[in-house]
Amino acid sequence: MRRQLFEEDHEMFREMAAEFNVRAVAPHYAQWDRDHMMPRELWTAAGEQGLLGLAVPEEFGGLGMTDYRFRAVLDEEFAKSNHLAVGLAFHLHDDMVLPHLLAYGSEDLKQRWLPGMVSGETVTSVAWTEPGAGSDLRGVRTKAVRDGDDWLITGQKTFIGNGISGDAALVLARTDGGSGRGGAESFSLFMVRKGEGYTTGNQLDKMGLKASDTPELFFDNVRVPHADLVGEEGQGLRYCAGQLPQGRLGIAVAGSAVARAVYEATVRYTKDRNAFGERIIDFQNSRFELADILTEVEVTESYVDRAITAFNAGELDASSAARVKLWASERAKSVTDRCLQLHGGYGYIMEYPVAQAFLAARLLTIFGGTNEIMRDVVGRGIAG
Ligand SMILES: Cc1cc2nc3c(=O)[nH]c(=O)nc-3n(C[C@H](O)[C@H](O)[C@H](O)COP(=O)(O)OP(=O)(O)OC[C@H]3O[C@@H](n4cnc5c(N)ncnc54)[C@H](O)[C@@H]3O)c2cc1C
Repeated sequence: MRRQLFEEDHEMFREMAAEFNVRAVAPHYAQWDRDHMMPRELWTAAGEQGLLGLAVPEEFGGLGMTDYRFRAVLDEEFAKSNHLAVGLAFHLHDDMVLPHLLAYGSEDLKQRWLPGMVSGETVTSVAWTEPGAGSDLRGVRTKAVRDGDDWLITGQKTFIGNGISGDAALVLARTDGGSGRGGAESFSLFMVRKGEGYTTGNQLDKMGLKASDTPELFFDNVRVPHADLVGEEGQGLRYCAGQLPQGRLGIAVAGSAVARAVYEATVRYTKDRNAFGERIIDFQNSRFELADILTEVEVTESYVDRAITAFNAGELDASSAARVKLWASERAKSVTDRCLQLHGGYGYIMEYPVAQAFLAARLLTIFGGTNEIMRDVVGRGIAG
């Protein structure tokens, strides 16, 4: 069934994103995977092409493309070609950091940060998770202490995508001076640029998405100007919760797109390969599996498309975003697993896209809030 979501403008943007992907990503991606890092030139090239900071208003150097369908097109193009690490890196920058600055940042903060985020000269990370606090962000121990016109930040973060390659992080820190589990108003968000006292740890050796760098970060009395406090002191957790629907929608888009891409690759593969004198696709089991998978892919696309429409209308609430993230990421996990099985031994070989997609999709049920947390968010809403 044809999707109804996209219009001519989105398809033109898709052509541009596809051309960028073929020209600037495809020839180098395998090397980036080996390096566990993408080069900065990728970011500036993407900036020149108008692929970063899509929602940034013109006055801050952007194109003001707040229609989420453009972000979705970009994610879909990276998923289609199995360049999911690029999708993840851009997702952190555009779906996670940017919405906070747009929604809560002062004019001055926007003026100083947004033009670089659009051009790709400033690459950003989200630094919320800590060794002792992932699902439960009230356990964050990184602290920020006021010192005249500045803040001094001390603490440790982990699993920070773009942490080595990037320039700055949106850091969640405790600002009420307390210890133990914090309250709703114990935390604040800061844009923290690399400098004295800000160090990156080793790369964490991930099972997939290797081209995206993911280190620990350490802050030792890092001096941050008060002007880089995002919004109001004590509102950090409320801001994180307020912008999570966009992050979760982005994960749902990636999940749906990777499921579609892997399904299509598997149809091609099972038509090409033979066993017992027949094509693999001619076995009833293969056809039944592919029939189920295609049905799931289409249902997921419809659900995600509806969520994108709701987001554009300002109606994607926390529970709806949690549900679509839950659904699409579980489908991505299951579809990549079953498609891998249909590839036989070749599915286990990294040269085959299905192996890479399987490992990449595995992250989707974990990050951006685990799916157990998604169920909790939805269940609490139902219980009232
Ligand atoms: C590759 C990768 C990239 C990441 N990128 C970033 C990033 O850029 N920035 C960032 O800040 N973070 C990032 N993360 C962190 C990610 O968001 C966390 O891993 C995730 O939120 C889970 O936290 P945790 O790992 O501490 O697990 P835990 O919170 O320790 O959870 C362990 C298990 O307990 C379950 N659990 C926890 N609480 C509950 C509950 N209330 N009810 C039921 N079950 C529960 C969880 O679902 C999970 O199954 C990344 C993680 C990975 C792996």
